[in-house]
Amino acid sequence: MASRSSEERRPLPALDLEQPQARAYLGSLRRGSIPPLLFTGPEGSGTEFAAIEFARALQCEQDEPCWLGGPTCSSCLRAAVLEHAGIHLIYPTPTQGSGEDEEGDIGDIAKILEEKRADIFSSPTFSKKTSIRIARARAVIQRANTKPFDARYHVFIFVDAHAMREEAQNALLKLVEEPPAHVAIIFVTANPDSLLYTIRSRCQRVRLFPLKRAVLERILTGYYEADAPTAKRSAAMAQGSVTRARALLDSTDLADRDAALAIVAGLRKESEAWALGQALVGARGANREAVARVLNEMSVILRDAMVGESLRVNADVANDIERIAAAYGRPKLPAAIELVSEIRGQVFHANANIDGALADLFLRLKRL
Ligand SMILES: [Zn+2]
Repeated sequence: MASRSSEERRPLPALDLEQPQARAYLGSLRRGSIPPLLFTGPEGSGTEFAAIEFARALQCEQDEPCWLGGPTCSSCLRAAVLEHAGIHLIYPTPTQGSGEDEEGDIGDIAKILEEKRADIFSSPTFSKKTSIRIARARAVIQRANTKPFDARYHVFIFVDAHAMREEAQNALLKLVEEPPAHVAIIFVTANPDSLLYTIRSRCQRVRLFPLKRAVLERILTGYYEADAPTAKRSAAMAQGSVTRARALLDSTDLADRDAALAIVAGLRKESEAWALGQALVGARGANREAVARVLNEMSVILRDAMVGESLRVNADVANDIERIAAAYGRPKLPAAIELVSEIRGQVFHANANIDGALADLFLRLKRL
């Protein structure tokens, strides 16, 4: 995905991840002392976002935490742009070997935060191996022993906590065992078992599940400004992961899909002359890759016609898919898919004559 420019800052979206279990548990915590928490869930389930949102709610000046979609208190305003003095986000940064500075990761964390301010669901990439080191753990401990300034709590959020070095985890142990009343410690990881047992056994787990399609669609249209059909299709293909959904936005070419849809549907209701005409049109000026792409979309459409609604890639055109299933008849769909993949192979790998191959395919599909 094209990276957004770093000047483009966007506050956190007003978003309900629809994770009722996590919400119920976090809602029960109120604002007394907060046990160490371990936010965990599959990649792309929004654990980091959920942890930041929880921190924002803890710090909020209102009795009932502000909703980001409406007017917010000044604490939430700062939290929404990741500039809250009491919310400390800690990320793994490139390992520097021995002799590292105390807090030598500050520059890297600042860079990550800039990226997150432009896109909260982005994942920082470094060419070197990253980790959370003991110097960072020591800095956290030191900060935890001071009173928060202009905030209720110091909330420390360790993102990708599995990348925390063992000695850093050991250093944190005492703080995790007995956090001061004004400190909240949150670990976020898709891989909780790689944390030391002594750490994870002291944390309350907040489990998140793969995100619902509807939630992903709202993120894609609301936060990424995707159009509704593209969002619907990307969300359907993303298997509950916002990371995948976001990456799919760019790779989803609806023009190819729509061309394929028209051909697959047309072949059952139009004449043989129409089918031959489509083969000529399809081949004209098209290169092998473009034709192979449309053929690929055709097999996805035929597979969608074969499977149940919840498994469909092209969930946004359910009516067309149903019509195709009825027109071909479900028992014939596997043979149709086989045919498409055979011809796709010929076009792409065997240098077959494109219009001849397409004409052959379309007529055979028609007569199936
Ligand atoms: Zn607020």
